[in-house]
Amino acid sequence: MTPTSDAPAVHRDHIVIKGARENNLRDLSLRIPKEKIVVFTGVSGSGKSSVVFDTVAVESQRQLNETFTWFIRNRLPKYERPDADVIDHLAPAIVVDQKPIGGNSRSTVGTMTDIYSVIRVLFSRCGEPSAGDSSVYSFNDPQGMCPECDGLGRVVRVDLDKFLDTTKSLDDGAILFPPFATGTYPWQLVAESGLFDPGKPLRDYTREEWDLFLYGKGFRVPRLNHTGSMGHNAYEGLVERFERLYIKRDLSALSERSRQAAAGVVSERTCPECVGARLNAKALASRIGGRNIADLCALEVGDLIGALAGIGDPVGRPIAAAAVERLRRLEAIGLSYLSLDRQTSTLSGGEAQRLKVVRHLGSSLTGMTYIFDEPSTGMHPRDIGRLNDLLRQLRDKGNTVLVVEHDPDVIEVADHVIDMGPGAGTRGGEAVFQGTVEQLRASATLTGRCLRRSAPVKADFREPSGWLTVTGAALHNLKDVTARFPAGVLTAVTGVAGSGKSTLVSRVFTAAHPEAIVVDQSAIGTSRRSSPATYIGIMDPLRRLFAKATGADPGLFSHNSKGACPDCDGNGVIFTDLAFMDPVTTLCQACHGTRYRPEVLRHRLRGRSIVDVLALTAEEALDFFPEKTLHTRIRTLNEVGLTYLTLGQPLSSLSGGERQRIKLADQLHRTGQIYVLDEPTTGLHMADVDTLVALLDRLVDAGNTVIVIEHDLDVIRRADWIIDLGPGGGEHGGRVVFEGTPARLLESPDSITAAHLRKAVP
Ligand code: ADP
Ligand code: ADP
Ligand code: ZN
Ligand code: ZN
Repeated sequence: MTPTSDAPAVHRDHIVIKGARENNLRDLSLRIPKEKIVVFTGVSGSGKSSVVFDTVAVESQRQLNETFTWFIRNRLPKYERPDADVIDHLAPAIVVDQKPIGGNSRSTVGTMTDIYSVIRVLFSRCGEPSAGDSSVYSFNDPQGMCPECDGLGRVVRVDLDKFLDTTKSLDDGAILFPPFATGTYPWQLVAESGLFDPGKPLRDYTREEWDLFLYGKGFRVPRLNHTGSMGHNAYEGLVERFERLYIKRDLSALSERSRQAAAGVVSERTCPECVGARLNAKALASRIGGRNIADLCALEVGDLIGALAGIGDPVGRPIAAAAVERLRRLEAIGLSYLSLDRQTSTLSGGEAQRLKVVRHLGSSLTGMTYIFDEPSTGMHPRDIGRLNDLLRQLRDKGNTVLVVEHDPDVIEVADHVIDMGPGAGTRGGEAVFQGTVEQLRASATLTGRCLRRSAPVKADFREPSGWLTVTGAALHNLKDVTARFPAGVLTAVTGVAGSGKSTLVSRVFTAAHPEAIVVDQSAIGTSRRSSPATYIGIMDPLRRLFAKATGADPGLFSHNSKGACPDCDGNGVIFTDLAFMDPVTTLCQACHGTRYRPEVLRHRLRGRSIVDVLALTAEEALDFFPEKTLHTRIRTLNEVGLTYLTLGQPLSSLSGGERQRIKLADQLHRTGQIYVLDEPTTGLHMADVDTLVALLDRLVDAGNTVIVIEHDLDVIRRADWIIDLGPGGGEHGGRVVFEGTPARLLESPDSITAAHLRKAVP
């Protein structure tokens, strides 16, 4: 009898987790139904990611890696086994997250979705005249790329105004580029060549001298070497030398300092040869229906579908149909406003995530676990229905779909909901509810109560203290937009994805009003040692307090100095470099990850060591420290709702939404500022949104102006002023559809946002 074959079938229908303890999970046991859509809900910090990402996804990846040979395994990232007694019946997991898609400028929407390769085949068969087989239409292939820009569409050139000061002579510092500045070796090659008068200002050079100075090349010039005897050098003009060393080389091979110095003296512009089309003349000469391949790729997806549908040629028709089928998937997920030539590095996190979904839908994989991190990010309520369709399609192909989500309309699609809580951090870590959406809505859980509620729009609007205007904005899709942003109130900028919200607010408004403070979700501090405690600046007072109470040296309480564990240098982990393999990190056995040398822990303040104190949550720390400076600074963490973070937790473990709130903590006591926030509700439960809006209200009441880009109807109805963009996305958007109070928005006949708001209020 083999135990596995006799195991009850029901087990194989569920992912089984027993005794999970990652982060705040409290010996959690769960059965997650397979081939279903399972949505994880719960307040921010309740433990959703700890289950889905840190336990399920990590273990699937680890088990998958174990199936490879030693040789391959050593080339894969290392995963530690998650802290749990049992994790069973997993399937290979694919995490579809919001990490932006690479910074590589050769990656476009077309290349990433593979639609570009289909269009290349179309041109190789039907283009007139045909340039050859399909790689000659690829800007990433030497056969197709524009020779001037190597297929990048843009060129980097020396900006002489930044490179040189022509009022000065070589001797008094005419070369502004530090690596070539007066006294350096490259400077000597020119100044001591005998070709120029080193005391003569550059603007007095003759035409010949100037050309020689910048572009001369190849001939030998005499030079004194250090022994005083004559030597010879090949002369090279300054621009020639700069381009050879800094532009024609792989920039990643340069040191950070050289790269920064070079960046300061160049400017980037559209390639003069291909005018941004990236391809060589031969590829661009080939046309279908009057358009070349670059013209087609510049069309928005919606229009491209129309253009391809018009292809009647019998050879081309099936190829065009294959491209259209894939383009329809982009359209179906609300990305019809993108063009295939759009660089993926310029997409928002939400757009990147939806593109990744499209890629997976095209695959025929089945029996996988797909894991989504708040897929509604960046999506207007109008588009949520389409997102739900895609999730259902993935499930119906025989996959398990796990979704971390807060949006009531996405929660609606769940076959099964697991609600984490009841609170955040140490107050969470349990599954407080499991069942259907109906049952959740009727339950006494916080999520259930939030789903049942329905509140009216704000009735008492604040009076603006003035107006901040933007006139004639035409960037991206904006159509000569003039918008007025009221000062001293809370404004929500709304509209479907691609309507132009980020362009108007994050690009145009912030450029016109540079004093505006953008509070975004980007990473803070790159050091592995930064933590909430270092961020709010309490490490110094904390060390002094410990020193005063214990009589020990304050430096002892720093894991960056005298207190550092000697085994791991205060890193808490040991990095082991192995030949031919990735470095392996293991927990430091000497300090057990605490980063401190053991004797430091003997010094206690009111019964706690420095390590104990750094393990306190912001909420616990508030009670522990009556001292004014510490208390005030720790209070700001609690005020922005981060009560559950521990003081010493690495900042790298924070989600985007948490990073945004910790940045807000820094701003709480300022006044007269303009704050700009892009989708601050990301990662927030409906109950957390209340805390956030209270916080924004508080900033406004203190005399600040707050502008948010938002889709969350709970924020929109509580704003003083709405600027709604649209009506559609891309070329179909870019206009102000409505400006006014949320109460008046309810009456707007044209706004898609208004239609959704009407459904959400009583
Ligand atoms: P959610 O996904 O529900 O927002 P998480 O699973 O991310 O919650 O976090 C649960 C708790 O675990 C929080 O208190 C969080 O601060 C903590 N946590 C998450 N990652 C780490 C980490 N790397 N180190 C320490 N604590 C962490
Ligand atoms: P929203 O914030 O409302 O989702 P965006 O301002 O991001 O809209 O986009 C408005 C339009 O501008 C869209 O058609 C989008 O594709 C385009 N766009 C946005 N960023 C860029 C960029 N960096 N390069 C080219 N087009 C862009
Ligand atoms: Zn070019
Ligand atoms: Zn150590």
